[in-house]
Amino acid sequence: MNHICVIEIGNIKKDIIKHISDSIEKEFGLPVKRLKMGIDLIKNTFSVKRNQFLASKIIEKILHYTPTNCLKTLGVLNVDIYTPIFTFIFGQSQFEGKVSLISLYRLKQDFYSLPSNDNLLMERAGKESLHELGHNFGLAHCDNPKCVMHFSNNTIKIDRKEKNFCRSCKKYLRSKIEKE
Ligand SMILES: [Zn+2]
Ligand SMILES: [Zn+2]
Repeated sequence: MNHICVIEIGNIKKDIIKHISDSIEKEFGLPVKRLKMGIDLIKNTFSVKRNQFLASKIIEKILHYTPTNCLKTLGVLNVDIYTPIFTFIFGQSQFEGKVSLISLYRLKQDFYSLPSNDNLLMERAGKESLHELGHNFGLAHCDNPKCVMHFSNNTIKIDRKEKNFCRSCKKYLRSKIEKE
């Protein structure tokens, strides 16, 4: 049980899933197993009032269906997700838990009426995946604006971050992974 599972929910471009998986393998030093689930998985998590999907409910669904041999599981989807206290979120995670989630929906330039840019989307998705999985391993938000664990509620802040954990987050992460 030493691998991280990446579950594609609905259809996600192959190169994006590959980039996310490669980033995880590189930064966590653990192998990634890729799985796929249909969009049906989240049909009961939709809020008609908000026209968005409730992230905590999606996480429960993933937790229910993810194979037990996954050390941690990241769900990747392409719908607008929310949590009751925010208008939207890029992702959510169970702190020191097993499951995390990211959405590409608001990471896309198109969402902001800008020309689409697949490379930028890929980079943002990689960073946000590392961020949410970092919470699964017990990492809190980091003050360093270049660290992937820095809190970002807009794409400008995501783009300012580098594609990896800062030295102190990495050190903490290593100690946590060794204990798993
Ligand atoms: Zn966070
Ligand atoms: Zn850091």
